[in-house]
Amino acid sequence: MPEARVRLAVIDYETCKPKKCNYECISVCPINKSGSGIAIEANIQLRSKPVIYEDTCIGCGLCVKACPFDAIFIVNLPSELEEEAVHRYGVNGFKLYRLPVPKDGMIVGLLGKNGTGKTTAIRILAGEVKPNLGRVEGEPPGWDEILRRFRGSELQSYFKKLVDGKLRVAHKIQYVEVVPRRVKGTVRELLKRADETGEALELAREVGLDKVMERDVRHLSGGELQKLLVVAVLSKDANVYVFDEPSSYLDVRERIRVARLISRASKPGKYIIVVEHDLAVLDYLSDVIHILYGEPGAYGIVSKPYSSREAINIFLEGYLPAENVRLRKEPIRFRKGEGEAPESRAQAPRKLAGWTRLRVALDGFTLEAEEGEVYAGEVIGVAGPNGIGKTTFIKVLAGLVKPREGSVFSYGEVRVSYKPQYISPESLPKVTVAEALKKANPESLVPGSWLYLELVKKLGLDKLVDRRVNTLSGGELQKVAIAAALSREADLYLIDEPSAYLDVEERVNVAKIIRRIVETRGATAFVVEHDLMILDYVSDKVMLVLGEPGVRGHVHTPQPSKRGMNRLLMELGVTVRKDEETGRPRINKEGSYLDRLQRTRKLYYAA
Ligand code: ADP
Ligand code: ADP
Ligand code: SF4
Repeated sequence: MPEARVRLAVIDYETCKPKKCNYECISVCPINKSGSGIAIEANIQLRSKPVIYEDTCIGCGLCVKACPFDAIFIVNLPSELEEEAVHRYGVNGFKLYRLPVPKDGMIVGLLGKNGTGKTTAIRILAGEVKPNLGRVEGEPPGWDEILRRFRGSELQSYFKKLVDGKLRVAHKIQYVEVVPRRVKGTVRELLKRADETGEALELAREVGLDKVMERDVRHLSGGELQKLLVVAVLSKDANVYVFDEPSSYLDVRERIRVARLISRASKPGKYIIVVEHDLAVLDYLSDVIHILYGEPGAYGIVSKPYSSREAINIFLEGYLPAENVRLRKEPIRFRKGEGEAPESRAQAPRKLAGWTRLRVALDGFTLEAEEGEVYAGEVIGVAGPNGIGKTTFIKVLAGLVKPREGSVFSYGEVRVSYKPQYISPESLPKVTVAEALKKANPESLVPGSWLYLELVKKLGLDKLVDRRVNTLSGGELQKVAIAAALSREADLYLIDEPSAYLDVEERVNVAKIIRRIVETRGATAFVVEHDLMILDYVSDKVMLVLGEPGVRGHVHTPQPSKRGMNRLLMELGVTVRKDEETGRPRINKEGSYLDRLQRTRKLYYAA
């Protein structure tokens, strides 16, 4: 017997534009046309946005195809799933099925594409959103009904405690940059207010915040704000700690330090839940992981919990065995062993540019660089702490900052395309995404062209073309900036922190696109990256920038990626092994057998 199915119809009301269309969705509907019922309707005089009735809609998909703005999504889901609906944002809104299960004394990780409901799930578990069990019309369910729904699972006792006020929740929000607009004071004042355990100052010292204690929050960098919030949350006397993307803006060392602090907080009587896209960090932190899958912006389903290694491998493989669900067509694979650098290829490599020993002096900061050169067709991963001069070095290569000593030289004309680290929406001209992309390269908007298919469509920007760039979210803006930088015809691409705000699939897609563009155009790319997995994935060579943040930086000559990664990890004092199945890097637990073995062999990166 065929499995019983129910309809889920979602309209993205941000992209739906009845003032700019002819209600194609309504005119093609066979139910409406036959006169046997109404499956979709709108107040056409008022040009209101349409509503789809899921019980009369037959799921033919004609409206989905007809809508010029791709605003409709319809899917048939197994009817049993309906009983597991947890929350829906209004009629034809996003719907979340199932929830992650917090575990006493454990760290539960959440992994999934952006828009699949991770934040919604943690807001429900934090008691900030009362789940409506998917019922958006009539009376919303009360707590009795909600508790009955989760009967027999650990979620029932969790929610019971939450409703009875027996759980105190501390929540580290995703977008740390909103904080200076909401709170006032210095780091010390804010930590003093947050501190309930008396540990705030010690924790702050451990993550290096002691140097900025008297600084006003308005003057903190993204990384400093992130550390401040993590420490403030950890110093709360709570039972539930929720961390939404604790790695954003942090360098590799800071990510590991923050991960260690969060790990240390895990003990009986405490529930910790973490959403994170840096897989090395998520893996290191989590005891178990739930994968969220579905259609971004339309629906999300929470998987059963897997061990952290298993979950990440399954996610990369793209297939959930227990659920029998395919997440994507192809697995994400890592090049095992050494990538082949262009100068070792059979064909003679073409040198593109280079630099002599350089010295750059800025107000209070000096940067020195060892000499180096780059070849056409290679990607150089740039790694090092925040404030060490990576951006400054890139600006020297781009000709935006002049060195005091030494010079940059090139073999022939070198056209440069640059994606800066911070893209502030306020600083952007009020143009649409289409206009911004067109300015970078008109070909990127020609449907069917390579740039359109590989860059614009792969990054999902085709859905954003009419939006003004100053209204985009952090992740959307990041993707537009990357697409604009990569679509420009250039010989040298300088891509500063492309991963910030992107999910794993997007990070991998961007890394692939960078490699492909460099290879097909015979160009070179410098990519500043703090996600170890992506750094390893994207780089032919690794260039380290080390020294004392904010005071002096030393740029090392680019080295083959394995050697460069080894040196980076030695500096950070962590050892990393490669997962046997997927080849992805895994951080060893401090003091574990492998950690000790690798340290004695000075094999910080066992690739
Ligand atoms: P994630 O954290 O995985 O990126 P979210 O839980 O933030 O996912 O959001 C999932 C989807 O839910 C979003 O794509 C958005 O369409 C929708 N959504 C989130 N918050 C709201 C809200 N307050 N009202 C309506 N829709 C929302
Ligand atoms: P990274 O990219 O590694 O985070 P940056 O190159 O942005 O580091 O900055 C390195 C140091 O140089 C920081 O301390 C920063 O404050 C300082 N700096 C950057 N630009 C200038 C400038 N124009 N004038 C003075 N100091 C600067
Ligand atoms: Fe127009 Fe598409 Fe919205 Fe229908 S769903 S009103 S076709 S924009």
